Amino acid sequence: MATAAFETPRLRRYPVIPLVQAGAMSHLKPFVAAAPLQKALGFPETLVEDWQARAIAKMGELLGKYRSLQVYMDACVHCGACSDKCHYFLGTGDPRNMPVARQDLMRKVYRRYFTFAGKHFPKLVGAVDLTREVLDEWYSYFNQCSECRRCSVFCPYGIDTAEVTMAAREIMDSIGLGQKYSNEIIGKVHRIGNNLGIPGPALENTLEGLAEDTKDETGLDVRFPLDVKGAEVLLITPSADFFSEPHVESLIGYAKVFHAAGISWTLSSHASEAGNFGMFIGNYGQMQKISMRVREAALELGVKRIVVGECGHAWRVAYSFWNTLIGPFDFLDQRYPVPQHICEFTDDLIQRGALRFDKDANDARIITFHDSCNVARGSRMGGMPGGQFIIPRRIITSVANHFHDMAPHTILESTYCCGGGGGLLTDDLLELRVKGALPRMEALKDAVDEHGVNFMATICAICKAQFTKVLPYYGFDMSMVGGVHQLVSKAIRLGDK
Ligand code: SF4
Ligand code: SF4
Repeated sequence: MATAAFETPRLRRYPVIPLVQAGAMSHLKPFVAAAPLQKALGFPETLVEDWQARAIAKMGELLGKYRSLQVYMDACVHCGACSDKCHYFLGTGDPRNMPVARQDLMRKVYRRYFTFAGKHFPKLVGAVDLTREVLDEWYSYFNQCSECRRCSVFCPYGIDTAEVTMAAREIMDSIGLGQKYSNEIIGKVHRIGNNLGIPGPALENTLEGLAEDTKDETGLDVRFPLDVKGAEVLLITPSADFFSEPHVESLIGYAKVFHAAGISWTLSSHASEAGNFGMFIGNYGQMQKISMRVREAALELGVKRIVVGECGHAWRVAYSFWNTLIGPFDFLDQRYPVPQHICEFTDDLIQRGALRFDKDANDARIITFHDSCNVARGSRMGGMPGGQFIIPRRIITSVANHFHDMAPHTILESTYCCGGGGGLLTDDLLELRVKGALPRMEALKDAVDEHGVNFMATICAICKAQFTKVLPYYGFDMSMVGGVHQLVSKAIRLGDK
């Protein structure tokens, strides 16, 4: 682990609201997207000369388009209920990371240009001009929000800071101030089909290698098919599943489930990515263009169902937006959910007794489950209220003997973000990622101390990558995190075994 230029927060026993440290994180800004990255997405290459006028015009456009944004700008009564709910505030103490303060960065500009009082008596209502200094604050603090929506759960008006952040990022992109990490990834998806930039032949090689490894392990021909026309299921999974540890263990788990159930499936080289960073930058055009590859692949391959792998924001985009962006899905088999989460798929087979497990195979693991934000607060699963919480836990307890939840205020709809979501999973924001993980690390430490937990399962590629990186900062082993289907893979019985 590289030496950090910041101090890792101390783990505490109970949730502690930190002392306020004004400006503690004002130095932190992600790298700005270079001109070619901006150009590739159709954004201005650098900050345009008349950026102020264009930003205000864009804000007006978004206020007209998204009624929710207008409501969020007007409805806040500054009650403070959200102020201690953000993991970035809890981890950094910077008051600008209180959700209400983050919103106010936009609200004070909104008041200046879009309200009567702000236009005529700005000082009276806390309205300010959109100066370069304000824009720099936007760039810093709207890139210190993982769009996790935890604050909105506690706001009496349901104000969603994530939507404010998305609007701010969309405005900044529109004037040529994009964030390198997200925009680079989006460009790779447009060019190659996935976030990691893995071309089709390399993907094919990797899948062949996985099939060989799985044959060595099981003695069976568990397939990892690519671009197979006429398969029943198209699996759309995060590209991290193809290469990264521990992600790949879940991909092996999905393959074993399909094998055990005797259901034909395929991956697609055209749509080899479930993730959709278009959501992180608040740009529905980009989100639609990325999603469209999924529709094209499904039609081209003639599949009957689409199943989505373990990825939090991908599931939110699929569940909440695909129908509007790339629907209708009338060409798919309507007897199944469209789309369907891999956990829903596996759980359904378990409930019908179609899979057999040796739960003891996971006995070395004492497991807890980290609810990922975009699944917990941005979607559902299984057609039942709370299905997104029930189903992953039901799978875990079907394949393992030892499971303990973390503290109630840190799970389900109150779950804490891993600290790396929303387009922040980049090393230029490592300080924020480590500090923002504090509340989850404290809850994990409790579970470790009380129950001996040694494995934290999750169903999000970003959570897996983020925890692998930050767990060692808090004295945990990086291999403590893994996927739900990693546990399935270990316990599932195939063939006669
Ligand atoms: S959406 Fe999440 S990261 Fe953003 S302000 Fe709210 S709690 Fe913080
Ligand atoms: S909880 Fe809602 S109303 Fe209260 S300060 Fe936060 S955003 Fe404003």
